[in-house]
Amino acid sequence: MVDVKTHRMPIGGEWVESESGKTMETINPATGEKLGEVPLANGTDVDRAVRAAKRAFPDWSRLEPKERGKRLSDLGKRIAPRVEEISRLETLDSGNPLVGMRGDVLRTIETLEYYAGLAYEFRGQTIPGVHGRLNYVLQQPFGVVGRIIPYNHPFQFAATRLAAPLLAGNTIVIKPPEQAPLSALELYREIAEVFPPGVVNIVTGDGPTTGDALVRHPEVPRIAFIGSVETGRLIMRNASDWIKKVSLELGGKNPMIVFPDADVDKTVGLAVAGMNFTRSQGQSCGSTSRLFLHESLHDEFVEKLVARVRKIRIGMPIEEETEMGCLISKEQFDKVMGYIRVGQEEGAKLLTGGKKPDDPRLQNGFFLEPTVFDGVKSTMRIAQEEIFGPVLSVITWNDYETMLEQANSVIYGLTAGIVTGDLKKAHETAARVEAGYVWINGCSNHFLAAPFGGWKQSGLGREESLEELLSYTQTKNVNVNLNF
Ligand code: NAD
Repeated sequence: MVDVKTHRMPIGGEWVESESGKTMETINPATGEKLGEVPLANGTDVDRAVRAAKRAFPDWSRLEPKERGKRLSDLGKRIAPRVEEISRLETLDSGNPLVGMRGDVLRTIETLEYYAGLAYEFRGQTIPGVHGRLNYVLQQPFGVVGRIIPYNHPFQFAATRLAAPLLAGNTIVIKPPEQAPLSALELYREIAEVFPPGVVNIVTGDGPTTGDALVRHPEVPRIAFIGSVETGRLIMRNASDWIKKVSLELGGKNPMIVFPDADVDKTVGLAVAGMNFTRSQGQSCGSTSRLFLHESLHDEFVEKLVARVRKIRIGMPIEEETEMGCLISKEQFDKVMGYIRVGQEEGAKLLTGGKKPDDPRLQNGFFLEPTVFDGVKSTMRIAQEEIFGPVLSVITWNDYETMLEQANSVIYGLTAGIVTGDLKKAHETAARVEAGYVWINGCSNHFLAAPFGGWKQSGLGREESLEELLSYTQTKNVNVNLNF
């Protein structure tokens, strides 16, 4: 039995309730049990957090960059001995399997260390001018950054996405996902030991009340968002009432393109890994959920794919041997099931999955078997819309140009996978596929310092790289008249 707790949120270094006294429930999606309650922050609470961040800004931004970087590194060092504890909390709140969440926490430590090492990289330039005149460029922080994050990797996003804004000298207000807010609050226990009060503030709550108040706040000039395209559009619109810089990491409907020379066994492994059935139940923006399979490989490939997918161990996320956990909520479960119905109605062939697992222990949670559709046409809704669940669509191809046109026929442009030993074809396809992040003979992995982000409706801006750090600075040119 879980110890149900009413949590507070950290604003200006203090743990506070919401001004209205309202709270929100968070549950364990694997059991339906209530895990706790967190404050539902309204506009007044958000304003309080922004003012705390603003008060902390002058001192923080004047610290030497090296010192700001050291604090990030120190945060990583404080997280390190708590990997197990934090991973378990994250697993309970998110439904992602424990083994995957350990990976998230370890990657967080690595990312904090990476940003700490960039302490002197947001530098400007000098520009030649007429004799006796000098231009130099400063990259300076915005002030208060509003950071809104989604539910699929709540701890990793809360902890890693504070690094670039803070290193650049900003202070921050984080809005964790309403479905899984606990790990961000736990993170703050370590933040409090490393950063001065007000440098990091967390407002828990939902999108329309809490997130929206942050987006519209006039003292938050920089909004960074990770989430769905629909919310991204809304945020861009709402932020425009008060000219702000907005970055958006949004959804995807990503292709994995398998050429006729691909090794079937190895590529089946890539197709399963690329779909992120394990670690996040397909709830991953970068999942390669459209498998463009060359027709010459089809029969053998599909048979092996189904056999491999059926071996995935779906179970209670907190158990060590579990590879695949559950979806985040009933809403998400119903949405994915809706797409599975649509796929069948549109004429796609359901090869495996498409239902709750039979295991009696899993009946109270939002579990769904890994699902594969064959005979998918590129125009079908299951091939056009982001499902954000464990549903892989196999689309067979035989003509390269037609296949590429179909691969690029979605509104999204986040990631793409290409599988072939033909270097010429691989690089040509990488150049022509409409995506911000491409793997050749790989999938899913992110590489620190390699800019991650989307084309088209998948977003604006890049993260996990120097580009992210620079996006938290604004450029100031200083012209000096030495002849005066
Ligand atoms: P979502 O858009 O529903 O919510 C994301 C966050 O936005 C939550 O914290 C939510 O409370 C907040 N929010 C909702 N409405 C808001 C509003 N009006 N104003 C301000 N904030 C608001 O997304 P989700 O369902 O939590 O996450 C899934 C989506 O995130 C998928 O589309 C996925 O592809 C995307 N995602 C993208 C990336 C990336 O790096 N590109 C990474 C992870 C997830």
